[in-house]
Amino acid sequence: MTATAPITQDVLTLPRKLPKDSKINIIGLTRDQLYSALIAAGTPEKQTKMRLGQIWKWIYHWGLRDFAGMTNLAKDYRAFLDEHFTIELPKIVTRQISTDGTRKYLVQVKGGHEVETVYIPEENRGTLCISSQVGCTLTCSFCHTGTQKLVRNLTAGEIVGQVMLARDDLGEWPVPSAPKDETRLVSNLVLMGMGEPLYNFENVRDAMQVVMDNEGLTLSRRRITLSTSGVVPEITRAIEEIGCLLAVSLHATTNEVRDKLVPINKRWNIEALLNTLRGYPRLSNSERITFEYVMLKGINDSDADARRLVKLISGIPAKINLSPFNEWPGAPYERSDWKRIEAFSNIVYKAGYASPIRTPRGEDIMAACGQLKSTTQRVWKSSREIATEAGL
Ligand code: SAH
Ligand code: SF4
Repeated sequence: MTATAPITQDVLTLPRKLPKDSKINIIGLTRDQLYSALIAAGTPEKQTKMRLGQIWKWIYHWGLRDFAGMTNLAKDYRAFLDEHFTIELPKIVTRQISTDGTRKYLVQVKGGHEVETVYIPEENRGTLCISSQVGCTLTCSFCHTGTQKLVRNLTAGEIVGQVMLARDDLGEWPVPSAPKDETRLVSNLVLMGMGEPLYNFENVRDAMQVVMDNEGLTLSRRRITLSTSGVVPEITRAIEEIGCLLAVSLHATTNEVRDKLVPINKRWNIEALLNTLRGYPRLSNSERITFEYVMLKGINDSDADARRLVKLISGIPAKINLSPFNEWPGAPYERSDWKRIEAFSNIVYKAGYASPIRTPRGEDIMAACGQLKSTTQRVWKSSREIATEAGL
């Protein structure tokens, strides 16, 4: 009798070694995308849900960066993952720490491009300000990023990666045997770094889905604020598909001034913007829109502006964040005087809106809002281009 062929128990067919570049980076894939990728690579369908849960927890809960350490997976399966996938983050190139504790990271993404990520510590919490694009296509005339041409959109992985890198730097991954610590260092996330998040919609949406997942990074949607300059057609979509809180960069109370400060206003003006917000019924007082308003001396900071502002936003559950202008080399504006900012804030407050004045953080390291720009990527717009787009 001839010997019967040995029965292969392993249903996986281990493939030949793939070159690193053709491996799929797990970081930034949503659960659904990772599920499909695991199956496409050869994971048996009936195991996939469980494997996905295990891998997800290792990466996003424990912060693990290699498959070999995933000890609840069979050795063969770990080797299989290593053949097909990578766990790749962008790199922190430099880190600066301000006298007020703010940390600014210069982060390198694929292609050698750089973006900035800022961590702002507060009492018992902390906010991470992340970037969504390298540069920006828009040219707000008071914003440093606006002077740098758009190089490219960040991938979902590069957006999620910024959160993970900050947690690495702050030492915020859980330690298995240590008692659970409920205080979170990165407790809040704002998409207020470089770029216009709604011009990179799909990647931002997928990245937010990953960071909101409650078995991983677990940042709840109410702790995430997406700031937009006013990409009107994408606003409703953002509320519906991302569901995080929204900040809108208003900055002016007449179209004439807003055209100059936020040139996207020439496409979707103040009325179009506010009508969209007003038309969205799910907004409630607990999920107010934040209006961002930068205080520029003699440009948009008069009492009349404050009164026009409250009239314009009436009917929208809102809070107004007043930001003293953060200066940068060559900026064409000055910061309003403190007394002026307070007078403006009082008028808005008396009309029934919270109107906090934002304390600029990390100014000594140029980490404040609107000061970000990667200096090694010298693809800047000419001052003529900026002036033309802003209609100056
Ligand atoms: N592109 C998005 C998000 C990034 S900018 C947006 O424009 O909303 C984040 C916030 O910083 C925006 O409200 C922006 O208007 C504001 N900002 C830009 N430059 C600034 C500066 N120099 N001083 C103060 N705030 C600034
Ligand atoms: Fe771009 Fe926002 Fe800066 Fe305007 S304020 S140039 S939209 S990053």
